Amino acid sequence: MATADAMMAAGQHAQAVALLEDLLAELAPEHPRLRGQLLNRLAVNYPRLGQSQQGLRAAHAAVQLFERLPSGLAGLATAHCALSFCYAMLRMGQEALQAGLRALHSAREAGNSELEAWALNRIGLAYEALGDLQQAQTSTTQSLEIAQRQELAELHFAAINNLCCFASLAEHEALLEHQDARAQGHALRALQLTEQACQLARASGNVHWRAAALANRVDALLSGSELDTAAALIDEYLPLAQEHRFAWLVLHAQLQRARLLQLGDQAGRAIAILRSLLAADLDRMPPKLKRRAVHMLVGLHKQRGEYYEALQCLEQLAELDRRWARDKLALHSKALLIREEVAQAQARADVASRDAERERERAERLLHEHEALSSQAAELGRIAVEDVLTGLFNRRHADQALPVLSQRAISQGQPLSLAMLDLDHFKQINDRYGHAMGDQVLRAVAQHLRTSVRSADLMARIGGEEFVVALLGAPLAKAREICERIRSAIAGHDWEALAPELKVSVSIGLACAQTAEEHGRLLERADQALYAAKHAGRNQVRVSLADAGTAGREVPTAA
Ligand code: GH3
Ligand code: MG
Ligand code: MG
Repeated sequence: MATADAMMAAGQHAQAVALLEDLLAELAPEHPRLRGQLLNRLAVNYPRLGQSQQGLRAAHAAVQLFERLPSGLAGLATAHCALSFCYAMLRMGQEALQAGLRALHSAREAGNSELEAWALNRIGLAYEALGDLQQAQTSTTQSLEIAQRQELAELHFAAINNLCCFASLAEHEALLEHQDARAQGHALRALQLTEQACQLARASGNVHWRAAALANRVDALLSGSELDTAAALIDEYLPLAQEHRFAWLVLHAQLQRARLLQLGDQAGRAIAILRSLLAADLDRMPPKLKRRAVHMLVGLHKQRGEYYEALQCLEQLAELDRRWARDKLALHSKALLIREEVAQAQARADVASRDAERERERAERLLHEHEALSSQAAELGRIAVEDVLTGLFNRRHADQALPVLSQRAISQGQPLSLAMLDLDHFKQINDRYGHAMGDQVLRAVAQHLRTSVRSADLMARIGGEEFVVALLGAPLAKAREICERIRSAIAGHDWEALAPELKVSVSIGLACAQTAEEHGRLLERADQALYAAKHAGRNQVRVSLADAGTAGREVPTAA
């Protein structure tokens, strides 16, 4: 955007438009402020190239955007300024004035005096388009005063340059009313102002300013009959205008050339220039310039005594005026249509973004619901398989998990060892220390299981003071070692820290399965071994009879 601004400041409006259009096309929709700023710049650049309708479109779109943005007042004022300028270029004074007043209002509300001054400047142009030169000068002079006070170079130039135009127009009006003295006054003022404008433009390095200021200067010189200087200045600014595609200034220069020839008594050459201009550019030519060209032709033919041709030109002039009135109506509807189109596009974009927002909210809500549900499900699942007192798995889970473990062991060709644990004389603990103390003991035992057998594939409390531990891949000797570790950890625990004289021990029955047949009877055999451990005096590990041989260990004591 800085590059575009630099191009604009140098008067390279064609390049600026190309760059700004590119930037706009690449911009993501979630940057409405940036979009508005780009549109505002386009709206200022287009009319310099004679494309005021394009400018109008951009300015309307910018207005729509900034109206919706929080703290968008400055952007809105800028957009209305651009809108007013485009309308003024299209000679739609009423609309230009309306937009200019809106710009003034927004600028004041934003407390931005620079924009206020620009709005006054645009209002001046609007009044000119309405044919009220007096008001045009008043408003523009106000903007000039602010520009001088605040040293706003661009605005300073714009105000001086516009005042030049107004002075020339006022001179023209006075001449038509045969008020020669008044006309002379205006002419002198125009000369002074154009000199100032040229100085400002030369100092700025802005080619558009230079071309525009020179064009106005030529007008002023022509009316003062300083023909040689005028000719030299046309030669200076026409190539600039051609190079930078300032279409209106190029046409303006041709008219001035024709006028120069007319004043130099070369009516024939002047007529030739005007005729070819009208033949080539009739459609592209702004009506004001076209009218001026035909009007000049009337005078030129009269000058040469060619009354028939003069009459023809007068008829053409009448036709132009008739067509201009009709075109103005069409232009009004076109401008209205542009505004409507932009508003509709904005409304569509609004609906789309509201839909997208709603869709996003819905997705977010669903996600939340899903997360809540899945955490609920996880919680429910946990509750379903967990023993609340100890945090180990519960009986239900053990019943489901054991057959799965057996299957896995068989398919992987691995041993599965299963230990059944039962606390000794637990009833007595409850009786002596209370049920709550019994619960505490159960929790402490569970903790021992967790720390002694980290590698267990299953650890569950399957009854009041009964536990099961399953070890996949652990052969009997290894499992027995682990069971012994559990037993001694529990027996050796400092239970007296919980209650005086509290002693806790566990009896463990262990069985191991290798074959499918052994898997079928694994639980039962572990249970039998536990029974044996109890009968052998408790606080010990017993291995199932069938495994004793395999393990090569002692045979459990019979009851
Ligand atoms: P043995 O050495 O033969 O196993 O004797 P025991 O007293 O441990 O066996 P018994 O089966 O007679 O008693 C088990 C007791 O466990 C009965 C019941 O009061 C107690 N019990 C069962 N579930 C819980 C529980 O959740 N909390 C507590 N504190 N006690 C429980
Ligand atoms: Mg029991
Ligand atoms: Mg017991």
